[in-house]
Amino acid sequence: FASKLKDPTLLVEKAFVAGQWITARNGATFDVIDPATGQKIAAVPDLEVEEVNSAITAAHRAQKPWAKLTAKDRASSLRTFYDLIVASADDLAIILTAEMGKPLQEAKTEVLYGAAYVEWFAEQAKRIDGDVIPGYQLDKHIFVVKRPVGVVGAITPWNFPSAMLARKLAPALAVGCSLVAKPAAQTPLSALALGVLAERAGLPSGVLNVVTSTDAAMVGSTFCTSELVRKISFTGSTNVGRILMRQGADQIKKLSLELGGNAPFIVFDDADIDAAVEGAVVAKFRNAGQTCVCANRIYVQSGVYKEFSEKLSRRVSGLKVGNGFAKGTEIGPLIDGNAVKKVKEHLENALSLGACVTVGGKSGEPGEQFFSPTVLVGVTSEMKLAREETFGPLAPLFSFDTEEEVIQMANDTEFGLAGYFFSRDLARIFRVAEDLETGMVGVNTGLISTEMAPFGGIKQSGMGREGSKYGADDYVNIKYVCLSVA
Ligand code: ADP
Repeated sequence: FASKLKDPTLLVEKAFVAGQWITARNGATFDVIDPATGQKIAAVPDLEVEEVNSAITAAHRAQKPWAKLTAKDRASSLRTFYDLIVASADDLAIILTAEMGKPLQEAKTEVLYGAAYVEWFAEQAKRIDGDVIPGYQLDKHIFVVKRPVGVVGAITPWNFPSAMLARKLAPALAVGCSLVAKPAAQTPLSALALGVLAERAGLPSGVLNVVTSTDAAMVGSTFCTSELVRKISFTGSTNVGRILMRQGADQIKKLSLELGGNAPFIVFDDADIDAAVEGAVVAKFRNAGQTCVCANRIYVQSGVYKEFSEKLSRRVSGLKVGNGFAKGTEIGPLIDGNAVKKVKEHLENALSLGACVTVGGKSGEPGEQFFSPTVLVGVTSEMKLAREETFGPLAPLFSFDTEEEVIQMANDTEFGLAGYFFSRDLARIFRVAEDLETGMVGVNTGLISTEMAPFGGIKQSGMGREGSKYGADDYVNIKYVCLSVA
């Protein structure tokens, strides 16, 4: 795939520490595999604890001078960084598709979506405003200022290798933090390419570091036990989120956690059914169902169940499965063998408990890690897929009768990331939007992510928000200054 790149220097097989491109001291590397073909496409350094600590030290050294720049200067660097990402979007998309598998067009959309956070926080850098509060005595003046938390350890997943990192580095760097990023071992190349562009944008050495390693537990515990790392920002599974929270407890580490979801997608009798079908396709099958905000449970009111399931099945039967580089591909491979196994397991469990496939249900075509987009009818709450995130292209349709019943079912989960519903009844829209126990709600839309809105979950889906003016809050400490002037 490297021959497809206009700028081959964006493909790097070294880690980025203290402004240097390094190999592991012991020379160890690990392979990056194209999930569509199973072929090795690159090998990157498998760093150990010493190198991770070097990155933390570099970030610590760089942070104070970076924070001492004017907000306008940081904004200007980030704006340059943004411009470079956009100018290289085609190449970054190629790298992303090669390591992760998603269709090239979706990869480009992800790169630009991530870039939008860099643009937004370049603008927002100048608006980290404080407050002046009336004093409690005549001589007292109360000032509230916001200060960067310091060095941030960022751990990101493989499903959005470019955007998940951009969503963290943009607010962190904007407010004056520095960052050590640990991309998922499956997809380190997109993060390294962002490192190249950050360097080109003139970001000072050590402000952004990218460490690659197969030992995620070592990196996580090094971040959590380092006195220099003041905050962990993590996107990934709820289980790993729990580990980081436990490990961070000793030092009361500040945490942002964007964890698993189990999104309900509700279609009421009064919905525009065609729009609901389109919404479900986007919310369920984007990234082959591998997003944390993917519709996991689709609840359809009994009066429109038949119409909705037929229309959705017809639409899904037309989705094109294939290599992400092939023209017209809408569904790429799953990330690895375990992902395929999980979808199969959820499917088989549902079938054994009485569900039926209307379309799809097959794996192995056109390669081992592909799973055809699938619609299941006759689904019930006893099935595994009602409780666990499938993270694959499996759309289970549950039937319900009343609004009260569906709200109860939708909220019957420990997760609370995204929820969606389709309705044209204004009163119901307000009621249901309020009653869903999630951090985000899409009403009559299956697509809710934007840099201009606060992304994040409640319950065991995590804490903190990424994007919008709220997104900067995760990276600042509030300091109150009491000034006595008689
Ligand atoms: P998934 O692979 O299902 O997206 P994970 O939570 O396993 O979810 O992975 C998300 C990120 O967390 C990846 O970068 C992975 O390497 C990292 N990770 C996995 N285990 C740990 C751990 N014990 N401590 C810190 N990070 C971890």
